[in-house]
Amino acid sequence: MKKLTAALAAAAAFGVVAFSAEAQTYPDRTVTIVVPFAAGGPTDTVTRLVAEAMSKDLGQQVIVENVGGAGGTTGAAQVANAEADGYTLLLHHIGMSTSATLYRSLPYDTLNAFEYVGLVTEVPMTLVARKDLEPADLKSLVEYAKANKDTVTVANAGIGAASHLCGMLFMTAIGTPLVTVPYKGTGPAMTDLLGGQVDIMCDQTTNTTKQIQGGTIKAYAVTTAARLDVLPDVPTTDEGGLAGMQVAIWHGLYAPKGTPAEATARLTKSLQVALKDPNVVARFAELGTTPSPEADATPEALKAKLESEIARWKPIIEAAGQYAD
Ligand code: ASP
Repeated sequence: MKKLTAALAAAAAFGVVAFSAEAQTYPDRTVTIVVPFAAGGPTDTVTRLVAEAMSKDLGQQVIVENVGGAGGTTGAAQVANAEADGYTLLLHHIGMSTSATLYRSLPYDTLNAFEYVGLVTEVPMTLVARKDLEPADLKSLVEYAKANKDTVTVANAGIGAASHLCGMLFMTAIGTPLVTVPYKGTGPAMTDLLGGQVDIMCDQTTNTTKQIQGGTIKAYAVTTAARLDVLPDVPTTDEGGLAGMQVAIWHGLYAPKGTPAEATARLTKSLQVALKDPNVVARFAELGTTPSPEADATPEALKAKLESEIARWKPIIEAAGQYAD
């Protein structure tokens, strides 16, 4: 019996030693960040830039895996169920908070299924359309949409996605429901907008700025209080007569619940380094956004943001009575 106890104690001690040795060398292999939307979209763009900078800091490859579908909840579920070893992460946006109410039965408990790494960025939205859509400005777009409500199509990345929320804000602001077309991400939706297969989309500057600047799509408004430096000719929703249609899309980095604290602390540090990386700062600026300040790139700030955003959106979604399931 004594022997057994001693053996167990030795095994336990060995376990502790093995664990801390592993924690000290974390990461010793490739880290995967799941993006819960298709490749080529705004969340993907932000994540790839951050992943590249984190990879430099961590000394290991950080790769992106796109798991689109159901407004981001498919990818979030995959990470919630992944091994909690610090090698599978999730970079999701505001949809993490809205889906907690929009989906009455989610395969994960939003507030308790993840460890928090930190906030990443907050991105403005733009109301855009295919290049040849008739209306010249936001006021005429509103009239046009109202007059053609059964045929005007609005692309989004599924219920709970940022593009869905923003599209809903637009339809609520003009008091007219339009035809929505869901994609696995606004990357593929942009391809259809460029090809003229869909009419309108409300999406983040990280996906639309280059296209607007290149004149390949039409921009009607930015959803910020002031105009953006990178898109000085695009009026705000307020200027265009849709006061109140303001929204910014915050993003956070998460790990599955139970990920060792040493690993999440290392990831938070690496995120903070990445958000100061000159390439990240410059590319974010070109795309109309800024990295979160260090004080926000922390587990505490992300947790507080998620909690307050769930509380903010819950009554709005419940009052609208529109659920995804
Ligand atoms: N973030 C986008 C959205 O919510 C989707 C995407 O990243 O593709 O619409």
